[in-house]
Amino acid sequence: MSDAFDLLLVNGTVINPGAGPREVLDVGITDGRIAAMGKDLPRDSAKQVLDVDDCFVTPGLIDFHVHSYWGVNPYGTDLDALCGTTGVTTTADAGSAGPVNFTGFRHLVYQQARTRMLAFVAVAQHGVLNAPGELENLGFADPENAARTVRENPDVAVGIKIRLHVKSVGQNGREALRMAVGAGEASDSPVMVHVGDTRIPMEEIVETLRPGDIVTHCYTPKQPAIVDPEGRLRPAVLEAQQRGVIFDVAHANGHFDFDLVARAMDQGLRPDIVSTDLHRMSGTGPVVDLPTTLTKFLMLGLELDEIIADCTVNAARAIGWDDRLGVLEVGREADVTVLEVVDEEASLEDSVGNRRTHGQRIVARHTIRAGVPSHS
Ligand SMILES: [Zn+2]
Repeated sequence: MSDAFDLLLVNGTVINPGAGPREVLDVGITDGRIAAMGKDLPRDSAKQVLDVDDCFVTPGLIDFHVHSYWGVNPYGTDLDALCGTTGVTTTADAGSAGPVNFTGFRHLVYQQARTRMLAFVAVAQHGVLNAPGELENLGFADPENAARTVRENPDVAVGIKIRLHVKSVGQNGREALRMAVGAGEASDSPVMVHVGDTRIPMEEIVETLRPGDIVTHCYTPKQPAIVDPEGRLRPAVLEAQQRGVIFDVAHANGHFDFDLVARAMDQGLRPDIVSTDLHRMSGTGPVVDLPTTLTKFLMLGLELDEIIADCTVNAARAIGWDDRLGVLEVGREADVTVLEVVDEEASLEDSVGNRRTHGQRIVARHTIRAGVPSHS
């Protein structure tokens, strides 16, 4: 075992939230899998040694809400290269494909990308659209085949997506939500629900969701938000999180307000998952990339280890993949990220024009996908 590592990471501090407290350990990789984790693993025979002293070694980061169906869906953008330089080894697309065009996602995105690109399947038969919205006409809804698509593609499809944005569903929000939960039940998978600019109350949305379903854009300032107009966290939201509904950040161009995040976290609603919602229209907007989004939570007071949990083991658990993803363990595929927290001023922007600075920034140093580093 120890005489032929293809790659050996030495002297890094391992943050592996699904397995235990942080610890300085070497990580040896052979044939694309984690072969050993321990103190002072033998270096002489390793084909490549990376000294990652002063860095953190984490499970490969999962960006839980992106739009990666490029060239097909209006929101889609080619994220593979960006993922490879920003520590992201797995993404989940948020409904760019529906049951009609999911096969294209498998062939054009999942099979082509180096990053492991998974997907939530839209209830809308062609996936999420821009204008007109995908479910302004409910004749385009196909919850039965969305559920069948999830069941028949367990290696790629991880759940059901619905957007309750008024531009997506017009006045059909209530019926669309009911269809999505039905598709989630029929496929035994989680439903990811877009909130922000909805015409049904936040209380009704979170009370309709099952434990394990996901509220995405959870800190959106668009109404109805998780806090009421006086800034109080809606009690139904905290109750929903306590019974297992998952709250996902999905920053995007319009769904992140520093003041609202701080207020909600002060009142007990910390995120379960931190994600970007990078898409074609988000361009060079305030999101930038996942490490920048993670840095915002460092600035807002979360501990680094919690933040890493939110984009590794928590994200993997939410799709039932924590037996494969989100934890470093001997024998697993070697998706590993090396991060550094550098002492330099970070200028950070939210979606409503606020800018704050923070004295530290999280940066990715190496993105190792199935044992192969793409960046050094
Ligand atoms: Zn999105």
